Amino acid sequence: MRALVTALLITAIAATPLQTAQAAQAAPPGPKPDHAVTDPGQRPAHGNTKGAPGGGGGLESRILPIVHTCSPSLRIRAQEMTAAQLTATCESLANQDAFFHGVVKDSGPVANDYNTTLEVDVFNSSADYKAYARKIYGIDTNNGGMYLEGDPATAGNQPRFICYERTDVSPGWQIWNLNHEYAHYLDGRFDLYGDFNAGQTTPTVWWGEGLAEYISYSYRGVSYTNAIAEAGKHTYPLRTLFDTTYANSDATRTYSWGYLAVRYMIERHPDDVTTVLGHYRTGNWAAARSHLTSLDYESDWNAWLTTVAAGS
Ligand SMILES: [Zn+2]
Repeated sequence: MRALVTALLITAIAATPLQTAQAAQAAPPGPKPDHAVTDPGQRPAHGNTKGAPGGGGGLESRILPIVHTCSPSLRIRAQEMTAAQLTATCESLANQDAFFHGVVKDSGPVANDYNTTLEVDVFNSSADYKAYARKIYGIDTNNGGMYLEGDPATAGNQPRFICYERTDVSPGWQIWNLNHEYAHYLDGRFDLYGDFNAGQTTPTVWWGEGLAEYISYSYRGVSYTNAIAEAGKHTYPLRTLFDTTYANSDATRTYSWGYLAVRYMIERHPDDVTTVLGHYRTGNWAAARSHLTSLDYESDWNAWLTTVAAGS
């Protein structure tokens, strides 16, 4: 399946981050992205809306006329996508489910999560995203797409991943950050209790962004070369990465080092991951934080980074 997905080039690209994470400036009313970037088309962002309405009314239907139902849990709306592109995108996301569950070993959705059906809204290009996404959803568009979880405890809430196609790849066709953002949807539904803001009450970015990167790269079978290169620098103690927030980190720490921290914990300390996820799934953020900050794996972490940098 992975080979098929790759062959179809329905892949999320995490290009070299050229920016530091910045607070959104002059954010419009409504959801505030967790981070904004100056280089469009690079990094995804997140936001939170109450109820996550597709507020554009007629504009939304006019700009995104294609409505394609992949499955009862997944629907695509798009400006222009061919039947083959729709099918391949559905398949890429559907096959990610089993991969994700194999990694996080959940036993079903967290309590009070009614985000049963994800809508993926696909604009034709960065320019189209900029032209319409703010008008329709009230979001910042200086980013590579955005997942709006909304309030999963509200019946009728519509979780929505807003994204756009790359226009700079040839041959092929891609949606920016497709598998990364879908991992956020699954993580929010199966690992993280409550809405986006609830999960930010303690530093959880190492997990949220690290897992999204880990799932995206490992599912697609793509080597995360930026992170591998970073590993050789031994920049951060593991303990420091557990303190990562969107405010105190740049894109390299958030994504590459988040990936390394999650991969290390999954590969070397799966029991700790189980413990931490047990707390995340019940919204016991303080207990998760307490467990993480009690760990002392620094020497093993550094030895592991060396092996990763060497290509294993
Ligand atoms: Zn993300």
